[in-house]
Amino acid sequence: MGGYGDVQMLNEDGTRMDGRRPDELRKIEIEAGVVPVADGSARVQWGSNLAIAAVYGPMEAHPRKISRQDRCVLDVRYNMAPFSVTDRIRPGFNRRSREIGKVTANALESVVQLELYPRSKIRVEIEILTAEAGTRCCGITAAAVALADAGIPMRDLLVSVASGKINDTVVLDLDKPEDNYGQADLPVGILPNSGELAFLQMDGDLSVEEYDLAMVYNMKATKEIHELQKAALAARYENRGEQ
Ligand code: UDP
Repeated sequence: MGGYGDVQMLNEDGTRMDGRRPDELRKIEIEAGVVPVADGSARVQWGSNLAIAAVYGPMEAHPRKISRQDRCVLDVRYNMAPFSVTDRIRPGFNRRSREIGKVTANALESVVQLELYPRSKIRVEIEILTAEAGTRCCGITAAAVALADAGIPMRDLLVSVASGKINDTVVLDLDKPEDNYGQADLPVGILPNSGELAFLQMDGDLSVEEYDLAMVYNMKATKEIHELQKAALAARYENRGEQ
């Protein structure tokens, strides 16, 4: 988020550099069951972002010190592959990836019925294979599908999406140039059936009116993405029936 409000990112007709309307998502494709050895998995292609999420468990919580008597713990890792962006990413975890892992775990805790598996853990691995802004949203959306694919009881699915501001205009789902030169970014996690918020982060400044519009866009996009998540899980269920 550079905050360069003077870099022109909107066309004269109000569309964006890639031709999208302000309230339009990048193209999203979701597939469930892509990692054969995992208990559940999903692939989300979101514009040029590509995330694979794999879920293992529930299993006994190790190391012991992470174990909770009354509930399951979510052991979440978010990682960007070294080749996911043009400037090679040094392998291993860094401050950013740990923070995104923690935000993701907190958000998923809002939907997974953790109380059903005391002293257990569920491992959620998110690997970003290509990155072009919005990878936390892509990864969280994939992880929710992977958990459902693993048959983990959940109160709701979870969708993550972001709106932001470019050239003093609120837009949905910032791509890389918009993220670089935009004025604000507001990624959220939303429970699609109840509309509850599971997490919210804000980079940059939005007025109350701009925030309200960004949330209208985020809620609308959540419904669209939820349909794709459900279709991916339904397709997976049908394929299993045929095997
Ligand atoms: N990025 C990068 N190198 C890094 C971290 C991020 O090139 O070490 C790029 C990547 O394209 C990412 C974008 O910057 O999607 C925005 O990163 P941010 O931290 O805002 O998280 P994201 O938008 O991916 O959730």
